[in-house]
Amino acid sequence: MPERENRPQKARRTKKKVCMFCVDKVEHIDYKDTAKLRRYISERGKIVPRRISGNCAKHQRQLTVAIKRARQIALLPFVSE
Ligand SMILES: [Zn+2]
Repeated sequence: MPERENRPQKARRTKKKVCMFCVDKVEHIDYKDTAKLRRYISERGKIVPRRISGNCAKHQRQLTVAIKRARQIALLPFVSE
């Protein structure tokens, strides 16, 4: 069943969002670290947006590049639609 995005979810408890890469003091995201990258990919194979992942702009950018690179060398699946 496809999930809708426009469902009102105001009552949802706000989870404190911190950039996990900043917490871990990651300077450069390794595209070979698929275990970590997978956490930022939705079940449909999409990259989780920053407002969900809580990543900072710097790391989200790096993450996007890392995931795209990982896809190119087939470590991670492309979006299947
Ligand atoms: Zn960060």
